[in-house]
Amino acid sequence: MNLSYDQVGAEFDSLIKGVLACTKCSRMCDSQRVLNRSSGHLNADIMFIGEAPGRLGADGTGIPFHGDKSGHNFEELLQFAGLNRANIFVTNAVLCNPKDANGNNATPTQTEIKNCSEFLKKQIDIVKPKIIITLGASPLSALKSLTPHNIVLRDSVRTKINLLNRILIPLYHPGQRAMISRSFANQRSDYQFIADQLKQIGRTTKVLNPSKSQLSVALIVDYLFSKKSSFTYFALHKLFYLIEYKSVQQLGSRLTNSYIIRQKDGPYCTELHLFKLQKALPYLKTKNLSKTNILLFKFSRNLFEDRLIDQYEIDEKVIELIDSVLKEHGEKSNAALKRTVYFTRPMRNILKLELTDQINLYNTAIEF
Ligand code: URA
Repeated sequence: MNLSYDQVGAEFDSLIKGVLACTKCSRMCDSQRVLNRSSGHLNADIMFIGEAPGRLGADGTGIPFHGDKSGHNFEELLQFAGLNRANIFVTNAVLCNPKDANGNNATPTQTEIKNCSEFLKKQIDIVKPKIIITLGASPLSALKSLTPHNIVLRDSVRTKINLLNRILIPLYHPGQRAMISRSFANQRSDYQFIADQLKQIGRTTKVLNPSKSQLSVALIVDYLFSKKSSFTYFALHKLFYLIEYKSVQQLGSRLTNSYIIRQKDGPYCTELHLFKLQKALPYLKTKNLSKTNILLFKFSRNLFEDRLIDQYEIDEKVIELIDSVLKEHGEKSNAALKRTVYFTRPMRNILKLELTDQINLYNTAIEF
């Protein structure tokens, strides 16, 4: 992301303020509003529109489609197509989490969708995506508030439609419920279709090797756990960032295409979400040290059965690099690690911008 606080950034920040002040939907007045810099690139070619933040996902993480099963599926599909959050924009038809009387996720009502449609219009006006991808029926309804259409998801899935002077491609929602109508395998080919469309419009974003990237994040963490039996979740995010930072400095490029954003306590990597880590490395167990501090440790009857590092080779240079980061920072307290990451150049650049432009860049993708 271009970090300069330009016109587009200013417009987006003013839109966020409007969203924060909105009280149109009574059942969502106290919910988190999920629109912020983690939504993605403000010049993205492609905008994904989901239904609404999930209770166990975006409503807690503040990152659209992140943290719950729908989010994991979505991120896996993106990876499959070689897409990265850093060069797309992700939002929802409704920006708050609608809950039913039992506190579970509910489908937003037509009134709620309509209430939020003005915000959706502004997001489209700001980002100006070439391609809009709706995920499920709710965002298609939301677009009806912006321009009349008769598009039915079942009939138009994975087709290119001209709408709002852009290409609209309706897809199914990546949540488990929608998998009944469209299997994960079918959804994977839908995302491949999206990647092909991007190529056709001469995409400016880079298609990265998805399987390699997904694997390399878990492989690095697996290696870290082969050197030390436990890390706090906090430390893992900071150490991972420091490894990527050192890789850029010493090897000239990032080791993975993982999405790392600036959060209140420093860098946070979406690929290191607890659920994903435990799925990739089943030997990892957790223990709550405090309300916000989780310890991750190895626990397995057979410590070697799940190790990725036994199955894949890691470059010697990368091993040396990780070892040196571990030696220098591996035993630091969380507070000391926080200080360390705040002193790195990418974080200092963000802090400087925040200070000079008097803005809050929380959730912005970190540029290395
Ligand atoms: N998370 C989101 O952000 N949107 C959805 O539609 C589902 C989960």
